[in-house]
Amino acid sequence: MIFIPLPCQRETMADTSSAQPVFRFAPSPNGLLHLGHALSAMLNHDMAQAASGRFLLRIEDIDRTRCRPEFETAIFDDLAWLGLEWEQPARRQSDHLDLYASALKRLDDMGLVYPSVMSRGEIKAAVAEAETKGRTWPRDPDGAPLYPGSERDLGHDARNAILAADKPHAWRLDMQRAALAAAATPLTWQETGHGPEGETGLIAADPAAWGDVILSRSDAPSSYHLSVVVDDALQGITHVVRGRDLYHATSVHRLLQRLLDLPEPVYHHHRLLLGADGRKLSKSNRDTGIQAFRQAGRTPADIRALIL
Ligand code: GLU
Repeated sequence: MIFIPLPCQRETMADTSSAQPVFRFAPSPNGLLHLGHALSAMLNHDMAQAASGRFLLRIEDIDRTRCRPEFETAIFDDLAWLGLEWEQPARRQSDHLDLYASALKRLDDMGLVYPSVMSRGEIKAAVAEAETKGRTWPRDPDGAPLYPGSERDLGHDARNAILAADKPHAWRLDMQRAALAAAATPLTWQETGHGPEGETGLIAADPAAWGDVILSRSDAPSSYHLSVVVDDALQGITHVVRGRDLYHATSVHRLLQRLLDLPEPVYHHHRLLLGADGRKLSKSNRDTGIQAFRQAGRTPADIRALIL
């Protein structure tokens, strides 16, 4: 195992593969990139360079209600301005919906997914009702209540009725069945960065903490979880370097990789940059946008000095 030191920064990365390492930066074009994205992109780029590896760019634009072409253009402009070079062309997820649909079909053939119809409001009401009766409703690592799973065990006819009706539905992973199907050996990942509690090294995945996650919905034909594992495998990504806010999601990704027979990358979750209010940077805060720094006359070297 070789450790690749990065110049003057607090992130180090283990290279475990003898094949050429492949890194990727995978932003969603639903807003302008901020300094946190610059950190992620630069780390991926620099780690790839230090390891004589490849650096790919993937546009994660599955959610058509929030993604816009002008933000995609801004991503290309900002990354080029930062001095980063990626292999052309960038992969755009909306060009590959059929692949995510086949992955979903495969999980369906294994009996591990079901169509669900409860809206966010209905879930909230069900949780509130249970909680007024003194029940504690389980929440996922992001704090959202787990799906009640009302349609999990519907018979063939009831399920077909949902699909035939005009009501929007989402396909969910039946987490209990999925975890059983993947239980042959312990589900783990190799973490070369750190989790929120400083976790590093061999990590035990805990996908059950997420409950029955959504894999596709009427307005977004694949979920982040499903498309990210399909694409990481397809693009031969060996090292996933991304913000610590996605650390817990890795449990779901490892489960899907196991179910779909996809290879396991090494994961490196890096620190998050916080704003003056102590919260993680968001796309809605224009002050920390890369474009704002650019317009204020800052140089890419200034950005590097600021974040790395
Ligand atoms: N598209 C995700 C985001 O913009 C990142 C996905 C990943 O790196 O796994 O937050």
